[in-house]
Amino acid sequence: MTLEYQYCETQDEVRKHIQECEGKHTQQAVYSTFHDALTQVCYGCKKVRSTIKR
Ligand SMILES: [Zn+2]
Repeated sequence: MTLEYQYCETQDEVRKHIQECEGKHTQQAVYSTFHDALTQVCYGCKKVRSTIKR
């Protein structure tokens, strides 16, 4: 499976996506204290949504 990277400007935006996928998709949410960044990996959407810009 290939996951597409999607940049989110705010953690709220990532949280919104997490809530939308909740109960529908298999997903994982990761918080990084070092980067103060939130990342969602959603296998249903096949996307990685993160506030870490790359
Ligand atoms: Zn999803």
